Amino acid sequence: MTDLYRLLPEEMEQLVMDMGYPKYRADQILYPLYYKFPKNISDLKQLPRIMREELIAAEYTIGSTQEIHRIVSDDGDTTKLLLNTTDGTSVETVLMQYPPSKINGHPRSTICISTQIGCAMECVFCATGQMGFKKNLRAEEIITQVIHFAGILQQRGEHVTNLVFMGMGEPLANYDEMIRAVRILTHDRGFGIGQRHITISTIGLSSGIDKLAEENLQIGLAISLHAPNNELRKKLVPTAGSTSVEEILKAGNRYYKKTGRRVTFEYALIEGVNDSPEIATELALILQGNGSHVNLIPINPTAGNFNRPTHDSVLEFERILYNAGVNCTVRVEKGTEISAACGQLRTDIIH
Ligand code: SAH
Repeated sequence: MTDLYRLLPEEMEQLVMDMGYPKYRADQILYPLYYKFPKNISDLKQLPRIMREELIAAEYTIGSTQEIHRIVSDDGDTTKLLLNTTDGTSVETVLMQYPPSKINGHPRSTICISTQIGCAMECVFCATGQMGFKKNLRAEEIITQVIHFAGILQQRGEHVTNLVFMGMGEPLANYDEMIRAVRILTHDRGFGIGQRHITISTIGLSSGIDKLAEENLQIGLAISLHAPNNELRKKLVPTAGSTSVEEILKAGNRYYKKTGRRVTFEYALIEGVNDSPEIATELALILQGNGSHVNLIPINPTAGNFNRPTHDSVLEFERILYNAGVNCTVRVEKGTEISAACGQLRTDIIH
């Protein structure tokens, strides 16, 4: 079985030619896949009936994930989907909507995509990290997370504006499938989203960052740092903690030099663990002058024993970075009450 969503446009052309059809038939598959969101091969009405039958006989399919549960936040701005994959596992994906910006008047609809079921990184404050690694998602299972929401938005006359690889899993630990998905999602004959509208978030696997820098893509990179020194980082991020803070910063700089895209450092603020003024000062010192941006994320509740700092201590942390000349924002909280916020995704519980 091969899902047509797995194929790059060039591969789709090869497929139709191998079947003995002219090249243009590829666009009669690609266009509906990315603009009409068909559920079955039989919905590809532009193709000759015999060609559809041949595709079905050759075990081609459409849509490797099925929606099994949908939950919407009280304000309507956040939607979480639980999707089933063909092998019976399930994955969560989240849509976050933001009102029209003052700059261009357009609303933002950002999808937070998962690349793995579970995660091997074991971050102590993250629900996905705590459930352990289950499996790598295939490119088509990553792409169809976007397609489900694109279909929902299309019915309302809206569309997907941004993609963030910040759902379940570590994108750089599933590199080949992740990058195949990115290539198809950004291809102008595929989903066609602008490269600059995509951000990949990583726990800081430096070889993966270097590999990504070589892809000749304009995608944004976010690195989950969480600590200014190795001792603290190892406690919070046990598996990825073996890459030193210094090495991560160097990899971030290399990414910036190669792509011209500034790197964002994510920093989950945990009360009494990594939120003191001393730690803020230490963080400011290591980031000063490298042009990066810090995104502070007051921690969201998970099963662990970690608490969100008070509003005042978040502001104090931000002020110290700001005064040291480090660009910094506090992440707007979304979807906490439906367990759709950062670090809350896990699939063994349906809320
Ligand atoms: N593995 C990648 C992608 C997951 S992104 C990474 O670590 O970057 C998920 C983001 O949410 C990361 O920045 C992560 O550190 C953060 N996060 C995890 N648990 C959280 C929690 N309980 N509260 C707030 N942010 C959390």
